[in-house]
Amino acid sequence: TKEAQELLQTGRSHRLKFEEKHFKYIIVGGGIAAGHAAREFTRKGLQPGELAIISKEGVAPYERPVLSKSYLFPNGAARLPSFHVCVGDDEKERQLPQWYVNKGIELFLGTEVVKADLASRTLTVANGRIFMYRILIIATGSEAIKLTDFGVQGAHAKNIFHLREISDADELVKGMKRKKKGKAVVIGGGYIGLEVASAMRINDFEVSMVYPEPWFMHGLFTPAIASFYEKYFSDKGIKLFKGTVVVGFETASNEEVKIVKLKNGQVLLADVVVVGIGGRPLTTLFKGQVQEEQGGIKTNGLFRTSVPDVYAVGDVATFPVKRYGDLRRVEHVDHARKSAGHAVGAIKASEDGKSIGEYDYLPSFNSSYFDLSWCFYGDNVGEPMMFWDKSTPSTTKPKFVTY
Ligand code: FAD
Ligand code: NDP
Repeated sequence: TKEAQELLQTGRSHRLKFEEKHFKYIIVGGGIAAGHAAREFTRKGLQPGELAIISKEGVAPYERPVLSKSYLFPNGAARLPSFHVCVGDDEKERQLPQWYVNKGIELFLGTEVVKADLASRTLTVANGRIFMYRILIIATGSEAIKLTDFGVQGAHAKNIFHLREISDADELVKGMKRKKKGKAVVIGGGYIGLEVASAMRINDFEVSMVYPEPWFMHGLFTPAIASFYEKYFSDKGIKLFKGTVVVGFETASNEEVKIVKLKNGQVLLADVVVVGIGGRPLTTLFKGQVQEEQGGIKTNGLFRTSVPDVYAVGDVATFPVKRYGDLRRVEHVDHARKSAGHAVGAIKASEDGKSIGEYDYLPSFNSSYFDLSWCFYGDNVGEPMMFWDKSTPSTTKPKFVTY
């Protein structure tokens, strides 16, 4: 923000204003990886006052997947505190804000780190306060790519939403309430696109989806899987506009979005637009200070970066995938949780003069739409073989497996 920039420029005087904060461990980012790292620290032995989590978000770490699913449902919608980390994993250990207090972990919420100086082990937050650490874990996750990033005409209009953080989901929910049962255009045929399109339909919106590929979830679904899901979506009343992109929006006099213009010349009426065109790892703070790879922060199999005592986990880490012999970034919860646990395991072991094995990750993601869900394991290569439950085309409980 402008305010943060000004504060940075006058950093010295603010340094005097605030007492510096020192912690043995600091986690930048308060998402899924941060929450799971905190849990692992407590399991492996943590003294009160040793760990701080600095998060731009105003709430304690929570399970982000809920935002594009039950958070948007018309009845019984999920709300905090019901999905704080680690609900769904170990319900008994749901980490409510009080959990952090009890464990002596300091949570700095609504606090954006605006400068990181890895050489001096110093972080500066937006109000000018300085934090110093012995060990840093970078867990800043990703941000949503926006159509405004590409200068798409009219993309600043009201009622065009993105979804990454709980504040985005709250804005979307408000928009849905204002435009009840209206026309929704969902842009993008990836994870957000499919999950939000189904949630909007469950809310009785007239839903259209727009995506550039010949079928949705193009990078993951085989043509057979995609054709099953696309038919399922169409049968639910969702209109699919494939192989085209949005080139502009027109607004009403109140600056609300009204028309979505597609590259193929079609125009769609819209009361609400949700954009899900990909994520971008948040590495800007560390640019030029740490080795990068594939847009993320390069780590070894223990999530150590090229800078001593600096670790990166979750969406931002580009790490070796042992079983496939390459480096990858993975933008899914299972990896966020496990990489955080592994990094903390490595940190604690090295303090005892020991080491642990390298991360051996089997990629695993999942998603759900309407009353269907799927899980994916492994690598998306080779000739797909589909095994259908024979009754799948006609039954209300379809089932299949693809190897
Ligand atoms: P995040 O959980 O994104 O956390 C990053 C945190 O860092 C945020 O709190 C952010 O505010 C904070 N931060 C960033 N920069 C700063 C800064 N400068 N200062 C302070 N704080 C900062 N994956 C699945 O496998 N299954 C799903 O069903 C699924 N559903 C999803 C639904 C949605 C709507 C979204 C957005 C993602 C979903 N994902 C899902 C992906 C999954 O949530 C991410 O892979 C996971 O959250 C990554 O964890 P992380 O801790 O690396 O980042
Ligand atoms: P994805 O990368 O999954 O999907 C983006 C989609 O948008 C792709 O179909 C992409 O096509 C398409 N696209 C790109 N540019 C345009 C454009 N200009 N107009 C229309 N479509 C376009 O990202 P999402 O936004 O869906 O998800 C964001 C992040 O959240 C990701 O990290 C994802 O992993 C995570 N997430 C994970 C979930 C899960 O695991 N269940 C659920 C929700 C989010 P192309 O591929 O051709 O570029």
